[in-house]
Amino acid sequence: MSYQLYDDEPYLVSFSGGRSSGYMLHNLVKENNGLPEQAHVLFANTGKEMEETLDFVAECAERWSINIVWLEHCYNDDGVVSFRIVNRDTASMNGEPFEELISRKHMLPNVVMRFCTEELKIKTMFRYMRSVGINKKDLTNVIGIRYDEPRRVAKVKARNEKEKFETIAPLVDAKITKHDVGAFWKSQSFDLKLPNNNGTTPLGNCDLCFLKGEKKISSIIRDYPTLAKWWFDQEDRIQKGSAENGGKTENASFIKRIPYRALPGANMHDLLNIEIECFGCTD
Ligand code: SF4
Repeated sequence: MSYQLYDDEPYLVSFSGGRSSGYMLHNLVKENNGLPEQAHVLFANTGKEMEETLDFVAECAERWSINIVWLEHCYNDDGVVSFRIVNRDTASMNGEPFEELISRKHMLPNVVMRFCTEELKIKTMFRYMRSVGINKKDLTNVIGIRYDEPRRVAKVKARNEKEKFETIAPLVDAKITKHDVGAFWKSQSFDLKLPNNNGTTPLGNCDLCFLKGEKKISSIIRDYPTLAKWWFDQEDRIQKGSAENGGKTENASFIKRIPYRALPGANMHDLLNIEIECFGCTD
């Protein structure tokens, strides 16, 4: 059975707050008659998730009677990188964890330096697991990538060979595609209240994530102008700090070709439509 979990094995079930990982989580709960004690369902909030995503995570926990641990990246009083546990009421909604990370790094993440995924999500989850006595090498990482995401599947296989822990992808094993996920959520009494665009969620993960591609980001900025300010501000302050220090400004924009502030005014025909799948930030 693709969704079977074992009582004596520790699991990190990574829940992104998207429809695919929600579908996976639902089936894990259903097919195991609840979740074993050692299955830790974690949601890492960057602070730039849409409010609808936060509501969805809270609703999944409530409807399915499971514990989802909400985590945020932070630094402790000694300035050492750490995590905090939050909930729907206390979760950051103005990008605070993300902004603090950028401040410490003095640079912005981009397509080739995706330190946001690594720090805000992946390492934050492993830090939590370590805090409950489970080391990375002893756990099985359960992720919600689908069968119709071949590049991500290939990355999982490559990582399994390289890393000290195992990653499993139940939706891949069960050959679940975005159409199956869409059909499932249509049959449910609740859903993620973000648009479903032919099986993808343009506003999923961080609202204006640089991996969404220039065209999509530009469209989102036009449709939701209030979301853009935070991203503009990050570029402005890193640009300013970099210039003041006489440093290079190469890492002062999320997209090398064009700053976010210039995207809404750019001709759509001049923008690239390259979307990049993120291994750490699954749908
Ligand atoms: S969704 Fe994008 S911006 Fe947010 S953590 Fe993932 S890669 Fe970074």
